[in-house]
Amino acid sequence: MPAKPPPASPVSDVPWHACTAGDALARLQADRGGLDAAEAARRLQRHGRNELPATGGRPGWLRFLSQFNNALIYFLLAAAGAAGLLGHVVDAAVIAAVVVVNAIVGYVQEGKAERALDAIRRMISPQATVLRGGQRHTAAVADLVPGDVVLLDPGDRVPADLRLLAARSLLIDEAVLTGESVAAGKHEAAVDAAAALGDRSCMAWSGTLVAAGQGVGVVVATGSSTEIGRISTLIGAVRTLTTPLLRQIDSFGRRFTWVALAGAAALFAFAVLVRGFRWDEALMAVVALAVGVVPEGLPAVITITLAIGVQRMAARNAVIRRLPAVETLGATSVICTDKTGTLTRNEMTARQLLLPGRVLRVEGIGYAPDGRIVADGDDAAAVLAQAAPLLRAGLLCNDARLRQTDGTWSVEGDPMEGALVALAMKAGLAPDALRVECPRVDAIPFDAQHRFMATLHRNAEGGRVVFVKGAPERLLEMCSAQREDAGTRPLDHATWQAAIAAAAAEGERVLGFACKQVGDEVERLDFEGLGDGLQLLGLVGFIDPPREEAMAAIAECRSANIAVKMITGDHGATAAAIARQLGLAEDPDVVTGAQLDAVADADLGALAGATEVFARTSPEHKLRIVRALQAGGAVVAMTGDGVNDAPALKQADVGVAMGGKGTEAAKEASEMVLLDDNFASIVAAVHEGRVVYDNVRKVVGWTLPTNGGEMLAIATAILFGFTMPVTPVQILWINLVTAVTLGLVLAFEPAEDGVMKRAPRRASASLLTPFLVWRVVFVSLLFLAGALGVFAWALGRGHEVESARTLVVNTIVAMEIFYLFNVRYLHTASFTWRGAMGTPVVLGAVGAVVLAQLAFTYLPVMQALFATRAVGALDGLVVVGIGLALMLALEAEKLVLRRLGVLEAAA
Ligand code: ATP
Repeated sequence: MPAKPPPASPVSDVPWHACTAGDALARLQADRGGLDAAEAARRLQRHGRNELPATGGRPGWLRFLSQFNNALIYFLLAAAGAAGLLGHVVDAAVIAAVVVVNAIVGYVQEGKAERALDAIRRMISPQATVLRGGQRHTAAVADLVPGDVVLLDPGDRVPADLRLLAARSLLIDEAVLTGESVAAGKHEAAVDAAAALGDRSCMAWSGTLVAAGQGVGVVVATGSSTEIGRISTLIGAVRTLTTPLLRQIDSFGRRFTWVALAGAAALFAFAVLVRGFRWDEALMAVVALAVGVVPEGLPAVITITLAIGVQRMAARNAVIRRLPAVETLGATSVICTDKTGTLTRNEMTARQLLLPGRVLRVEGIGYAPDGRIVADGDDAAAVLAQAAPLLRAGLLCNDARLRQTDGTWSVEGDPMEGALVALAMKAGLAPDALRVECPRVDAIPFDAQHRFMATLHRNAEGGRVVFVKGAPERLLEMCSAQREDAGTRPLDHATWQAAIAAAAAEGERVLGFACKQVGDEVERLDFEGLGDGLQLLGLVGFIDPPREEAMAAIAECRSANIAVKMITGDHGATAAAIARQLGLAEDPDVVTGAQLDAVADADLGALAGATEVFARTSPEHKLRIVRALQAGGAVVAMTGDGVNDAPALKQADVGVAMGGKGTEAAKEASEMVLLDDNFASIVAAVHEGRVVYDNVRKVVGWTLPTNGGEMLAIATAILFGFTMPVTPVQILWINLVTAVTLGLVLAFEPAEDGVMKRAPRRASASLLTPFLVWRVVFVSLLFLAGALGVFAWALGRGHEVESARTLVVNTIVAMEIFYLFNVRYLHTASFTWRGAMGTPVVLGAVGAVVLAQLAFTYLPVMQALFATRAVGALDGLVVVGIGLALMLALEAEKLVLRRLGVLEAAA
């Protein structure tokens, strides 16, 4: 539903950018603390959801017709027309049925795949940070209403049109709207009413991207009333269901079609000129042969296989944003991952306070403010007095809030900052009261680049105070003195370094705190001069337990020959300790960002390949590492969450964004989004990617030789001039029946054992591996032998030719069924109880084919249409026996190849 204009007011004819922030709020009947929940709900009713109307995809009939739009189908339709004109009505009807059934299967399955992908895309619907009733909340972008107050951070997509109320170094990339590639600087002051869109610097437009800085704005328009809604450029992006694999299959199919047609034409000429066939009979035979041999259903089945893979990955918390990632995941050879939140739980608890000359222990776990701060031999009051300055700094230089719902405490904001709030509360400090007592005047937000955060506060006792918290080495660089009970002393670098190293070696994440007094005249914080007079207060060590499931996933990667590299902003010793706890390496090699800077690109490949842990890195290092690994031939999956991670995510073969803590910019740059930010989900997706690729190979490995066998049978009959073992219309029947049953089931195959015990496949490897090519040839020959063998046997026993042909058709179908069971296990033996039991999908398909064959053989109407005859019990057993023999032959082949060690190498 389109949004209506905001409530009318006396100044409503003044454009938003020309009125002051205060006037804008008044017009919207809102205030800086945001709307309350009830009012937001009322406005949502009135204005509708903050969404752009979706442009419907192609209409159904068009999608159906497009199924016929390919050269092969034209050929088949022409063949059907020719058959009809020659009086072969049944043949014409069966060819038409093949075409229509294929189109229906393609249409239905493609529709299902598209719907599934749409549903999965909706799982990562965008969120925005808003103030509701003065509290920070995460809300769905679709629920925003005029009057909502929105907080903007780097990497956010602006969720609606906003009149800015405050902006700090805010830069917004407005390319989607204005085409301007340089990010626009923003501030809160009103601009001229006549300013062009790109010059309205107090506005943030829906759909644009926050490149840097912070901002607060009030929503003035939502949905189709926004600027982007008016021009609607973002939506209606064409979704294509294509991937390199599908293109490979498509071009293979096209080439194959031409070869088949040329072969058929040659065979036709040979049949008529050399063997003296009647030309219309010969034409029908080669048409049937061409129809039989061309894998017309293959692209559709492979699309389905990919779509099923996407669904299975989504069920394991990995949402695919781009279909090709499904294939690439299966070939991934290196996973580069963040530490905090991905390998660890991102549930921080402060464990110790390191003050000048002493160490205080913190009790309790999690965000509940229960537990004491203790030091051996000291009374509680003395301990708290000593810790007080550091605790105040931790509470005020902090954007997080703790919330208690149903007795459990959770954090809104950064988990480490949440842990600092819990720490201060354990010491009896009241966060809200302290924040009111010492209001914040200005702040430099945390950034992975400079690794600290600073805030400026009014002091209750007069004057102002600056707090800085950040990476401890960074603070040691900035401070020249340390604060002690007795006053200040020059900074004792060596002792602090030793304390940091000791805490980090335990796997603790260490944060430093500092402060300085400044005069009342100071209004803003700047990078320059921030360190002047800064005094170190102490350090806090946090624990962030490793994820259990990450440990198992890392072990799985090891057996699957996938290298795992931790790339973290944290301290080298902390990173190494966590790597050890996770089993990433016994004694990990740690390379820091500074060391990376000293290495030339040319030498980076070897270093990146040999290193397990990269510490104190910034996002640019990630980009260099990915490039270096790729140059060495690796297929790299890389995680990221911040706006600065976007280039590395784009560069990686599979960019993996965090669904929870990741920015919109990171999600948009990536191929896959993790719903649970969990390393184990990446490995699960790789596992599913391998299964998908296996299944595609199984589909191809089943389709090509079954088609090939039929072709060889007919071609041999023509070449050697004996009675055709099957009629054209029977060949068409086989294709019709098996294409919609057996041909589809391999798309649904579950994982084979040991999927993650193999090395990743080479990304450049062709789908048709030497093993698969061998298989196609070998199985085609076995099919030929089976079909001609049973034909000769039946004729030899005095059967009439129609009966013999009926047996041949049933034998071919039986061989297809048994071969299906064999193909289900490319890497291991199929002759197992589990293999024989199949899956419900397999059994359903086999059941359907058996029923169809019984009808084909015994129903009078089918006997009339297809010239078939009833088959006796002994003959029936022979049919099944040949199928079984084929399977035994192929099992023996698998065994021999495995013994020779050829299978793994060639597969
Ligand atoms: P990862 O890349 O594995 O997620 P990380 O979270 O440690 O690691 P960054 O977020 O880049 O990486 O943090 C780098 C360092 O900056 C941290 O080790 C910490 O010392 C410091 N730091 C992190 N968050 C804050 C914050 N909110 N305020 C101040 N300093 C911070």
